[in-house]
Amino acid sequence: MSKVIQNLPEWQALRSSPFFEKKSVGFVPTMGALHEGHLSLLRRSIEENELTVLSVFVNPTQFNNPEDLLHYPRTLSRDCAMAKDLGVDFVLCPEFSDIYPDSYRYKIEENQLSQHLCGAHRPGHFSGVLTVVMKLFHLVKPTRAYFGEKDYQQYLLIKGMAEAFFMDVSIIPCAILRADDGLALSSRNERLTPEERLKAPQLAKILKEGKDLVEIQAQLEEAGFKVDYVHEQEGRRFVAAYLGSVRLIDNQMFHRDH
Ligand code: AMP
Repeated sequence: MSKVIQNLPEWQALRSSPFFEKKSVGFVPTMGALHEGHLSLLRRSIEENELTVLSVFVNPTQFNNPEDLLHYPRTLSRDCAMAKDLGVDFVLCPEFSDIYPDSYRYKIEENQLSQHLCGAHRPGHFSGVLTVVMKLFHLVKPTRAYFGEKDYQQYLLIKGMAEAFFMDVSIIPCAILRADDGLALSSRNERLTPEERLKAPQLAKILKEGKDLVEIQAQLEEAGFKVDYVHEQEGRRFVAAYLGSVRLIDNQMFHRDH
C-alpha cells in the first residue's frame, strides 16, 4: 500500500514518527514519467530496505533550457499507480515553494567534475541537481539512495557530495536499463518523433562500436545527431547529442581490443 504525500510538513511529521524508527529507508529520487529504468532502482531499493521512498519532483533549478522544462513529461497519477503496483511505501511529490523556501538563494556547488561534459553544456545544471538532492536527503533521511549509471556524471557528483559533507547515506549505483534495440531508457525518449525513435539506438551502437572519438563523432553526425560531446575516461565512453530538439545522453564501459 503506497501513500502519496504532497504536503511537506505532513511528510516531516511522519518521518520523525515512531513508524520509521530503526527501519532502513531506501530512496529513489526522480523527475517522474517513470519507465523500467526507474522501476529497476525501485525494485532494488525494495529488496534491500524495510521501507522505500520515491520522490517525483521536476526540479526547475537543474534545467538550463526553459523549453526543456516546459516540455518535460509529467505523468504523476500514472507514476503513483506504478509505484503502488511495485510496493513502494511512500511517494513524495512536493511543490517548488516547499522545496525552495529560500527561492534558491542557497546552493551546493562543486567546481571540478561539474564543469566538464554535461556541466560544460548545461550551465548551472549540476548545482541544481546537487542542491535538490541535498534537500531531499535531509527530508527523507535515507539509509541508501539509488542512482542510475545512465547519468554517470551525476552519480559521481552525488557520491562525492555525500562524502564531502559526511552524509550518513550509502549511494548505490544501478546499471543502465535499455530498450531491446539498445537505446537507454529515458523520460525524454517520449518526446522523440517516430522517425527519431528509429534513429535513436544508433547513439549506443556507434558509441560502443566506434574505433575512436573522432570516428564516433563523425558517424553520429552522419546519422543525424548534433553532438554536444563524446569523451573517454577511465575505460568509459560518454556521449551527449541532440536528435531534433531532444538531448540524449549515454555512457558505456569499453575495452580496447584493437
Ligand atoms: P530522472 O527521473 O531522469 O531524473 O532519473 C531518476 C533516476 O533514475 C536517476 O538516478 C537516473 O540515473 C535513473 N535512470 C534514468 N534512466 C535510467 C535507465 N535507463 N537505467 C537506469 N537508471 C536510470
